[in-house]
Amino acid sequence: MKRTLVAANWKMHLNASQASILLHRLHERIKIHRDVEVVLAPSSLLLQPLSRQIDRRKFRLAAQNAYHKDEGAYTGEISFTMIKDLVHYAIIGHSERRLYFSENLDVVRDKVAAAVRNEITPILCVGETNHERLEGETKQVLHDQVVTALSDLTAEEVRDTVIAYEPIWAISTFGGQVANPSDAKEAIDYIRSQVADLYSRKVATDMRILYGGSVDDHSVGGYLSISGCDGVLVGGASLNYEKFAGIVDVAYRSNRSDKDEE
Ligand code: PEP
Repeated sequence: MKRTLVAANWKMHLNASQASILLHRLHERIKIHRDVEVVLAPSSLLLQPLSRQIDRRKFRLAAQNAYHKDEGAYTGEISFTMIKDLVHYAIIGHSERRLYFSENLDVVRDKVAAAVRNEITPILCVGETNHERLEGETKQVLHDQVVTALSDLTAEEVRDTVIAYEPIWAISTFGGQVANPSDAKEAIDYIRSQVADLYSRKVATDMRILYGGSVDDHSVGGYLSISGCDGVLVGGASLNYEKFAGIVDVAYRSNRSDKDEE
């Protein structure tokens, strides 16, 4: 049984005390739930203090980024090796990194491999721009992003990787148009079919694929009800305690509340 993953990308928001307060409030509201996994991705600076504050039965931490080399003269960078004891996941290939930090397909592939080498599970973000969508290039873009990013992994490593389908035009900071759950389903099914072709049907079925793009407590139910959607990656709404707690509540309800452990 796959656990539904609800991941919060805090981006470059929240200083140490703001993050600590939000985590404290979430601790009171978030339950230990065997079918729902809640992941928080704070800034790298806060991984260490939050890893001490966190109840690991309720939350896992994710990095928003790291460098693909394990060690060396790379001024200003942090490696996956340095954070491997702090995080379970790392967001890789986010559209903001592809756009603002020129992370191309090869860079994303190297980061995915570096994360896996350091026993960190990648949350690989893929998705098309509005222009690519209007030009009918969505499948080609998804194909290139998925195939390249996973190319250095074994089938078993691919199975454990998480992919987040995030159409760039639906991300709140890039316009935030609302994606229909049916559009999201088509893309998720396509990504899964690519993984099945490259690896196996079993790998594709077992791997988790999330949706991300302006998800909030009102829209999340529509995405979680898509068959094949194994969770959500949340940006803006994850900074708002009520909205994020509401999203997690919907995830609990869509996973049979009789399985609650608390
Ligand atoms: C994101 O940046 O990954 C994201 C999904 O952002 P938002 O929810 O704000 O659209």
